[in-house]
Amino acid sequence: MAGKILIVDDVATNRIVLKVKLAAAYYKTIQASFGADAIRLAQQSRPDLILLDVELPDMDGIEVCRRLKALPETRDIPVVMITAFHDKARKIEALEAGADEVFWKPIDEIILLARMRSLLRARETAEQLGLRDTTYRDLGFAEAPQGFEGPALVGLIADAAATAMQWERALRPHLADRIVILDREEALDATGMAEIPDVFVIAVSGARPGDGLRLMSELRSRPQTRYAAICVVLPGTEKETAAVALDLGAHDLIEAQAEPAEMAQRIRMQIARKRQADRLRDSLADGLRLAMTDPLTGLHNRRYALPHLARIAERAAAAARQFAVMVIDLDRFKAINDRHGHAAGDAVLVEVARRLRANLRAVDLIARIGGEEFLVALPDTTFEAANATAERLRRTLSEAPVLLPDGTALRVTMSIGLALGNGPDRGALPIEEVIGRADRALLSAKADGRNQVMVGQSAA
Ligand code: GH3
Ligand code: MG
Ligand code: MG
Repeated sequence: MAGKILIVDDVATNRIVLKVKLAAAYYKTIQASFGADAIRLAQQSRPDLILLDVELPDMDGIEVCRRLKALPETRDIPVVMITAFHDKARKIEALEAGADEVFWKPIDEIILLARMRSLLRARETAEQLGLRDTTYRDLGFAEAPQGFEGPALVGLIADAAATAMQWERALRPHLADRIVILDREEALDATGMAEIPDVFVIAVSGARPGDGLRLMSELRSRPQTRYAAICVVLPGTEKETAAVALDLGAHDLIEAQAEPAEMAQRIRMQIARKRQADRLRDSLADGLRLAMTDPLTGLHNRRYALPHLARIAERAAAAARQFAVMVIDLDRFKAINDRHGHAAGDAVLVEVARRLRANLRAVDLIARIGGEEFLVALPDTTFEAANATAERLRRTLSEAPVLLPDGTALRVTMSIGLALGNGPDRGALPIEEVIGRADRALLSAKADGRNQVMVGQSAA
């Protein structure tokens, strides 16, 4: 997963030392020694991550960071700031400017590399989500609604209740979000929780790091909590453990000695990220659903139906079971449109879809594959059962008139072509052949007078 790193430092030896360290970890590097150059280079060559010195000759490094985070081309690039001065206020200022991490020199190489890996991983996930979101928007699906978001929920978990209460007291003046103190069992028992926290803050002790790290891995592996952000709090001296926590998926590290304002800022940043990812996931789920659904009838559309049918066929072949495919076409539908109007035609389509759904099993595939053409697939069936089902569908339409919006009761009929996949006598047919047989049977049903079921035979 190595990537391209932009090193920004006005001291050539610093750049060279970093370059050598990063090269050993298989990162490519590009370099700049001025803030203005760094911004230009970031825009032009889109590095995967930026290591940014706070003290630059032409501009304050924090200002460079602020500008990078304001430009659309560079705002998603993680920025790790490096400073020679142990100044807590400046550190918080850098985080508030959008820096993803701030390190004091001398930098611990293990921590630096672990932090870079974790930021690059998070960026890759965000990028993939964002890319898919863009595709959906290009396809005409709505953008994820921003909506009003109330305060987030932050769950604090420490070995001792006193520690968690101390965190809460410290955070309270800096954080507008809700805070809940949990013990390990409460955190893991998501069913007992009224609301899942957006962020878990977990203490990892120097003496027994395994406890906190295991809890984190548990939370990350469970479906209810896997999208929550996790901040690990640990003593600044525990470098190895910090690196392990990052590699196990901690989203951020907070030193136990950190200022409350820094802790709050880091939590706020994780809340913002988590919410952005939630929004993208929601819009992707909506987009996916829309991409697979026919808006008029709510049935699956052709795009969904064909690959799903192929999967039904594969599964049937593997299990040596039969399945059936029906192609259904409404009879003289054009006349309905011509006589009663397009809206009446639409109402008929909606009612036909409703009756098909009411007469089929949940495992059956029902799709609208054309204007007034439907496809039904019955997995795991026999010829007799499929034939009886087709006959039932035909009757359910022909025997009760469809009520049009203007109150007219209209008799509607349909013709059905039925074909069986994987008959005992025919082995596994290609799915195109099964559909072809159903199509030809449908044509015969039409030619033979409509309102009937015909069973497809081989093309020969
Ligand atoms: P046949 O019995 O041979 O199938 O005759 P038909 O009139 O049903 O066949 P044809 O394919 O000629 O006509 C289909 C009509 O379906 C033509 C088109 O105007 C109409 N149609 C297609 N999509 C829609 C739709 O979404 N809504 C409505 N109201 N009509 C549609
Ligand atoms: Mg028709
Ligand atoms: Mg037609």
